[in-house]
Amino acid sequence: QFPLGRRLPCDIYWHGVSFHDNNIFSGQVNKFPGMTETVRKITLSRAMRTMQNLFPEEYNFYPRSWILPEELSLFVEEVRTMKDSDPSWKPTFIVKPDGGCQGDGIYLIKDPGDIRLTGSIQSRPAVVQEYICKPLLMDELKFDIRLYVLLKSLEPLEIYIAKDGLSRFCTEPYQEPTLKNLHQVFMHLTNYSLNIHSGNFIHSDSVNTGSKRTFSSILCRLSSKGADVKKLWSEIISLVIKTIIALTPELKVYYQSDIPAGKPGPTCFQILGFDILLMTDLKPVLLEVNANPSMRIEHERESSPGVFENVPSPVDEEVKVAVIRDTLRLVDPQKKKSKDTQLIWLTEHPVDEYFCVCTISMKDKQHKHHSLKLSLKLKFYLKLGSCQSLEQVWEVSEELLDAPKSPGAALPSLCLKQVFPKYANEFSHLRLMDRVAALFIRFLGVRGTTKLGPTGFRTFIRNCRLSNSNFSMAAVDILYIDITRRWNSMGIEKESGMCLQAFVEAFFCLARKKYKSLPLHEKVLALTCVCERRLAGLHRKRLVWGCG
Ligand code: ADP
Repeated sequence: QFPLGRRLPCDIYWHGVSFHDNNIFSGQVNKFPGMTETVRKITLSRAMRTMQNLFPEEYNFYPRSWILPEELSLFVEEVRTMKDSDPSWKPTFIVKPDGGCQGDGIYLIKDPGDIRLTGSIQSRPAVVQEYICKPLLMDELKFDIRLYVLLKSLEPLEIYIAKDGLSRFCTEPYQEPTLKNLHQVFMHLTNYSLNIHSGNFIHSDSVNTGSKRTFSSILCRLSSKGADVKKLWSEIISLVIKTIIALTPELKVYYQSDIPAGKPGPTCFQILGFDILLMTDLKPVLLEVNANPSMRIEHERESSPGVFENVPSPVDEEVKVAVIRDTLRLVDPQKKKSKDTQLIWLTEHPVDEYFCVCTISMKDKQHKHHSLKLSLKLKFYLKLGSCQSLEQVWEVSEELLDAPKSPGAALPSLCLKQVFPKYANEFSHLRLMDRVAALFIRFLGVRGTTKLGPTGFRTFIRNCRLSNSNFSMAAVDILYIDITRRWNSMGIEKESGMCLQAFVEAFFCLARKKYKSLPLHEKVLALTCVCERRLAGLHRKRLVWGCG
């Protein structure tokens, strides 16, 4: 802690709340600019909706959501249409205030007419979401999972997931929602901060009993009952990667505004808390993403009536200490330096009694060649020899890169598992919005801004040659004004101009105009390719003129 400020720059800055806690120009910060805003309930729902519109099958792990108050009539309308087409559908919805946490202000409704419109909804926007009525229960109780995810880098994208997490239990046996039990928070909401106040909350020193347990203890129980735990993990990994892919466009806009390319600035990483619910068929559903997950390893206990004390919580300690320790190990600048020097030294001495440098070449399933240069302890080198697939090589190489260099430096193996770029190929087609965001960023012009002005939008249209006799520059201006005015009237942002999400709406509108018969994601992809090609052409021309 530096209550009086710092004099020397640091390698790693650990901020309590946000990127802006300090003015920093080097090193690494444990927060990304704009993360808190990007994972707020409304912004997250919007980003997920964009991805659901583009890739409906891939993003069906996020419950259908509407934004209040602006989409109230759409919500009423859509629910009525769905009920008309399936009269047996008896849905429940959960209303969650934007920016709320710890279950604050959340309530369940059976009918859109039950939304509390008086007072708060106008001043405090919210998300209304389909309520998952059939969650997986354990000991008759509803529970959710808190998983810790390290976003180690945005460009290139690097994601790690902690191998263990927490499971937080309700404290009243679960029943499907009825008008009678809708208000019973201890039955429907899994928040620790709420359930701790229930007389039924069980503090336990064991990680597999009580109202807060490790996720691994849940997996053990599921596996003992024959559940396919491997499949569940791979679905969770895919949910995490897809969610982060949905968030990266917005994060990149904030990033360039705070840390402009080419200027001295820090790099960022961040630990995120993913809240996930399992359905009875073990399908994971994303509830929300927390930018500042609690890292407390103590809990409060009422030692005598009205007197509270902090006591250690073994479950929290088991999971959270490992997450922070391994985050520091992964971002440790010294580790990077020592690895590089070791490699250089070893290259000069190719084979030694204990170490050798080897290049492993392997073909993956698509017959693409990969090579991996490693300095290995001999016994690991031999172990690699038995690997059958690229996957196995990575597993072994991860293990040996973490292997202690000397007995004194022994640390437990990493609890953080790299999932991206490891599985990048499977998800590359979903990164379309990153390319649209890159177009947006290119035309932002003034450094430090996150919004596109009318001139920037016109230049984008002109440079990408998107205007023609059917779509005049006057129509371009009208499109800009219409969309920007609507987004700004939602009153979310202070700065004037076109935000990324408004640009995305305009871009989709242009794509629909230009390519009538294709599915939406193909339309957007086609338009993105056209813009990129024309901008690259323009860039080449400018280089030639510049030389001339
Ligand atoms: P908060 O940030 O206030 O904790 P959450 O979105 O995490 O808000 O919701 C609080 C709790 O409500 C969750 O932990 C979960 O138990 C329950 N919940 C939230 N959304 C849903 C949903 N769509 N279906 C079922 N339960 C939900």
